[in-house]
Amino acid sequence: MSNSSPQPQTRPKTRKETLQRPKGTQDIFGADIERWEYVESLCRLQFQNSGYQEIRTPAFEATELFERGVGEATDIVNKEMYTFEKGERRLSLRPEGTAGVVRAFVEQGMSRWPKPVKLYYMGPMFRYERPQAGRQRQFHQVGLELFGLDTPAADAEVILMAMRLFEKLGLPNLSLEINNIGTTECRENFKAGLRTVVQPYLAELCEDCQTRYNTNPLRMLDCKKETCKAVYARPDVKSFLETDFTSPESQAHFAEVIRSLEALKIPYRRNSYLVRGLDYYTKTVFEITSTNLGAQNAVCGGGRYNRLVEDLGGPETPAVGWALGMERLMSLVGELPKRELDYYIVTDQHPVAFELAERLRGQDYKTEVDLSGKGFGKQLERAAKLGARQTLIIGEAEAQKGELQLKHMQSGEQKTLLLQDFLSTLSS
Ligand code: ATP
Ligand code: MG
Repeated sequence: MSNSSPQPQTRPKTRKETLQRPKGTQDIFGADIERWEYVESLCRLQFQNSGYQEIRTPAFEATELFERGVGEATDIVNKEMYTFEKGERRLSLRPEGTAGVVRAFVEQGMSRWPKPVKLYYMGPMFRYERPQAGRQRQFHQVGLELFGLDTPAADAEVILMAMRLFEKLGLPNLSLEINNIGTTECRENFKAGLRTVVQPYLAELCEDCQTRYNTNPLRMLDCKKETCKAVYARPDVKSFLETDFTSPESQAHFAEVIRSLEALKIPYRRNSYLVRGLDYYTKTVFEITSTNLGAQNAVCGGGRYNRLVEDLGGPETPAVGWALGMERLMSLVGELPKRELDYYIVTDQHPVAFELAERLRGQDYKTEVDLSGKGFGKQLERAAKLGARQTLIIGEAEAQKGELQLKHMQSGEQKTLLLQDFLSTLSS
């Protein structure tokens, strides 16, 4: 053992290389996070007021859940999932929220709860997509699910929830597109018919659509490529798509949903090309788009999924729901009310100041205490910079006399008050 003192180490001069967030992800902070939190709390309030309860499910689940729930022939499951192995298990970061909520509904025995079971969720989703405006690899969804009822009124309520939320947020140029895709049985005839009508143009379709032609022809209509869209817009294909292939029961259900929308004065457009990217839908499907969004124009998408609970091992349970993309929603939201700082406490008497701050916060006044230990002049400058409406000054003299000075920042008016009197004016 040497007892010579260690040599002083000279720090390397070169800066460490900085690290960046993964492509397609975002840091949400500053003015943005205030806007996000405002919108999230508006969602919570509206859902809670309508009897929807939050559910928080894991951000990763067994890969098989999405294979069975979302569908193996979908882009999401085929190409876009973040899948990894741990031990024997194959797990995936959730690419959407419904499969996890349905898994929880079954696992937690919610089918025995009084119907309908109304749930909402919010949180990050993960899809390995090409990042571009309105398309991230980690994005956030807010979603709503209603279980246990197959009534048109349930579809209408769920759509109404989304439309009223967007109205409250003042979203511009929205349009509700809606379609009836019938039951799984009705769709078998439709798929066969679609193959027949598209067959002559098969060579003009993209590789993906050629695969979809065999595995899942409905998905062809979801293709974003202009060349494919042109094929599906051909008069013979178009007139095939516009013939209603659904059962009389599905048609009656849809007509009733439309009647509700009309009674609620919610404008809509029937779009017979709307099939949605996921496999689990039945009957009503819809999308809410805005022309202000550019190419990625869907802010919200959803529909009825009467088979999913059963497909995931639960009892037969009809359900309907939607999910909205928070990033796209936020890009449409204009000015929002900002929360001002009500009080800034300039002080070197922290125990007294903290107690006072707690009293103020208890009455929902946004209050900050200066922690810097700097002179009061500097502290007042900071109060002005933060835009505080009023400053409370508590130095040693004030603390001893049980007083404070209250400064109104805009007028500059300042007065000395007894702490007790100040507190009693607050609660009156
Ligand atoms: P798109 O047609 O735009 O790809 P989608 O059909 O894949 O949408 P859903 O799975 O229905 O979308 O998800 C619901 C909502 O989530 C979409 O309407 C959109 O607002 C948002 N969303 C979906 N994928 C992304 C993404 N990669 N980045 C940002 N938002 C997304
Ligand atoms: Mg997509």
